[in-house]
Amino acid sequence: MTETTNGLEVIVARSAGTCFGVEAAIDLAEQHRKPILGPIVHNPQIVNNLAAKGIPIYERYQALDDLSEEEVKEVVITAHGYPKELKEALREKGITFHDATCPVLLKWVYRKIATFENEGYRIILIGNPDHAEIIASRSYGGDIKVVYSEADVDNLSDDLGAKTVAICQTTITKEKFQHLTNYIRETKYPKMRAIDTRCKPVKNQQQAVEDLAQWVDAFLIIGGFNSSNTTNLANLSKKYLPETTYHIDSPDLIRSDWLQGVRHIGIGAGTSTPKSQINDVQQKIAEMYPGPVFFRKEGKDGEILDGDFTPEDEI
Ligand code: SF4
Repeated sequence: MTETTNGLEVIVARSAGTCFGVEAAIDLAEQHRKPILGPIVHNPQIVNNLAAKGIPIYERYQALDDLSEEEVKEVVITAHGYPKELKEALREKGITFHDATCPVLLKWVYRKIATFENEGYRIILIGNPDHAEIIASRSYGGDIKVVYSEADVDNLSDDLGAKTVAICQTTITKEKFQHLTNYIRETKYPKMRAIDTRCKPVKNQQQAVEDLAQWVDAFLIIGGFNSSNTTNLANLSKKYLPETTYHIDSPDLIRSDWLQGVRHIGIGAGTSTPKSQINDVQQKIAEMYPGPVFFRKEGKDGEILDGDFTPEDEI
């Protein structure tokens, strides 16, 4: 690689890396050291670290008979939440669960669902129906409809009732939520309310990546390929840098030609990506780049956990 005259500037996006929900979930798993029902967060490095400490990782919806057979008396539930009826089944089996469900879900989204249903609303949840968060969240309502595409919306009943409200997966992009909300209003329920229930860390990270992607030459997005939050960050960056956005889950994936001719490179990382992985990537860039490398971190995190949505979250 040829050295550039001015060197390379590496800018870490605001709020990059693990959020409070993920950090609390890892702490809980390490504190109890009991079998975890599924990957505690969608980051292979974190999951492998826990497994290396001797903590068993089970299937997320592990058959309870198998748990009983293995005489498992305590389990840990992951940050994504767990279906209400399965928690009940654990209780009935006498299996204690340590609940790492993120407080954003427990104390905000599930309560919102209950409040809206009490007020007579039919709820439409915009998110991936196969994602653990959505599978859990929908179980906290009576008959929540889940949609993730225009085709899903087309299949909704034409008459869902007088009052409808849309909420969304905490990690979805605002663009997708807005698009499907508009489509539902145009084709089904013109008066539907819509509340942006993405969590603050996700909102902050998405905005930070979108801001930074507009002036850097290339972007590295770090995080598990199974993390919807990280994948969404990569897609946001690709809007501005379709050829030079790289989603990686390890510094070893960085190729020297990605840095060729680049003056500014951004680093973003999903809410399940440990800060140590960001450091490893910075270290790798410094080793690979033949000229001077300057590191900069953007702004302050500004992550706060609101107890409720604010009026501007209604779209
Ligand atoms: S991404 Fe949001 S909802 Fe998920 S664990 Fe972090 S704070 Fe909680």
